[in-house]
Amino acid sequence: MMSTLIHSDTQPQSDTPPDRDFIRVGPSRIEGTGVFAKRQIARGTRIVEYTGARRSVESLVTDIANGKSPGVYLMHLHDGMAIDGSVGGSDARFINHGCNPNCEVYVFSDRLYVYAMREITEGEELTFDYGLRTPRGIAAQEGRAEDHPCNCGSADCRGTMLKQS
Ligand SMILES: [Zn+2]
Repeated sequence: MMSTLIHSDTQPQSDTPPDRDFIRVGPSRIEGTGVFAKRQIARGTRIVEYTGARRSVESLVTDIANGKSPGVYLMHLHDGMAIDGSVGGSDARFINHGCNPNCEVYVFSDRLYVYAMREITEGEELTFDYGLRTPRGIAAQEGRAEDHPCNCGSADCRGTMLKQS
């Protein structure tokens, strides 16, 4: 699964406090494990970097086809490169999809960062819109909406984590 990213040359405004300890991981009402705000997070705050192994999409496609990669926690970076959060990834990989999210992911200098797109209250679960697309060649991940259901629970849930085309 690959996520659509917002590419931007300008960094969102941020008044990031020195204390960077914003999140904790715990059981999610949406699905499996989720990420929650330890404290209030101001809009525009850079919350956490989405880290993991840098892989070419081509090699990932091969590994997924051969069962060597589960094909989860993948974030598209650029130019056929992706970050595989299942290898050395930060807690950001546990952030669930939400159709009405409170976070978004930006690429800066070849790195992925999760930002608060609005004020987030203490205890709130962090989400961003995976906007899943199926890159050509990842046949096992073919994009049928029913294969990627969404349980985010927002009033405007579109029922799938796939990108609306
Ligand atoms: Zn949803």
